[in-house]
Amino acid sequence: MTSNEIIDLRSDTITRPTAAMRQAMADAQVGDDVFAEDPTVNLLQQKVAELLGKPAALYVPSGVMSNQLAIKVHTQPGDEVIVETDSHIFNYETGAPSILSNIQLHTIPGHRGVLRAEQLAPSVRPSAYYMPRTTLICLENTHNRAGGTVYPIDEIKRIRDFARALGIKMHLDGARLWNACVSSGIVPREYAQHFDTISVCFSKGLGAPVGSALVGSEDAIQRARRFRKILGGGMRQAGIIAAGALYALDNHVERLKEDHDKARAFAERVARNPAFQIDLENVQTNIVVIDISKTGKSTSEVLEVLRAKGVLLTDANFTSIRAVTHLDVAAEQVSRAADIVATSFRG
Ligand SMILES: *Cc1c(COP(=O)(O)O)cnc(C)c1O
Repeated sequence: MTSNEIIDLRSDTITRPTAAMRQAMADAQVGDDVFAEDPTVNLLQQKVAELLGKPAALYVPSGVMSNQLAIKVHTQPGDEVIVETDSHIFNYETGAPSILSNIQLHTIPGHRGVLRAEQLAPSVRPSAYYMPRTTLICLENTHNRAGGTVYPIDEIKRIRDFARALGIKMHLDGARLWNACVSSGIVPREYAQHFDTISVCFSKGLGAPVGSALVGSEDAIQRARRFRKILGGGMRQAGIIAAGALYALDNHVERLKEDHDKARAFAERVARNPAFQIDLENVQTNIVVIDISKTGKSTSEVLEVLRAKGVLLTDANFTSIRAVTHLDVAAEQVSRAADIVATSFRG
C-alpha cells in the first residue's frame, strides 16, 4: 500500500458492497414491492421480523424514514415524544417529527446516551387538557453521538416497566442494534421484546448499500406501510437492494467484532497522546470519540491537518472528533491511521 493512501474513518456508512454482495444483488429475484410481490423484499422482511421476535417488518429506504414512520404510527398531532438530548432523532433528522407528525420532542440528557428510568417521571406530562400528551419514548442502541455506547438491558427493562404502567409506547432506534448485540452477547429479540417498534439499519456496519427496516405488530407495520407510500417510499423491484441487506444479515453481523477490536486498538493507541482525551470506557463498539481541546485547535483545524496526512475523521461536537471503524478498512490501515493521529499535535 502506498503512503499517500487515504484511510477513511468518517463513518460506517461509507462501505461499498463487496463482490459477493454485488453478486447476490445481481442474482436477486424481484417483483413489484408496492404490490408486495417482491420475493426478496418479502424474505428480508420475514427474516428481520423473526430475528427481532415481532410479527411484521417493513423495508424502507433509510433509517430516518424508519424512525419517522414509527413516530407517525405511535402519535397524534400535539403529542410529546421523549428522546435523549444527543439522540439521532433530535439532532440529525431535520426536525422531521415536527413536520411529518406535528409532535414536539422533549429531550432529557443521558449519561453515555443512556437514560435512567428515574429521570423519566418528571418529564412525563400530567394529564391536563392544556398540556401535551406524552405518548412515546424513543431510545437509541447503540447510541451514535455518545460514541457507540450499548444500552444496558436492565435499564431498558426498567424504562419499559415505567412506560407500560402509563400506557406510553416504546420505540428503539436500533440503527446499530447489531453492534450492541455483538458487543453484549444479547440477541436482537431480547432487546426488541421491550419495544413496540424497532428500527434497524443495513447500511451502517453491515455494509449493505441501501435500507433499513421497521419492525413491530401487524397493525403498526400496516399503518407504517401506508405512511411510507405517502412519503414516496413505495419502491418497485426493491429486491435488488434488499438482496444486499439479506446478504449482510447472513454474512456481516458476526464480523462486527473485528470492527470493535479495531476501534479499541485505535483508541488505546491515540489515547497515549496527551493532546487527545479519550474515555476508553466509552469505546464499546466501533466508534471512538476524541476530545481535542488540549490541542488548542478547533475541530475543523485538527480534521484538516489529519486529512492532509491521509486520515479522514469527522467532528462529533464542538470539542470532539470521531473515528468509526468498518468493513472497508483493514486492521492494518486502522493501526496506521492511529499512528498518524497519535503522532500529531504532540504538546
Ligand atoms: C444513521 C442513523 C440513523 C439514520 O439512518 P439513515 O439511513 O442515514 O437515514 C438513525 N439513527 C441512528 C442512531 C443512526 O446512526
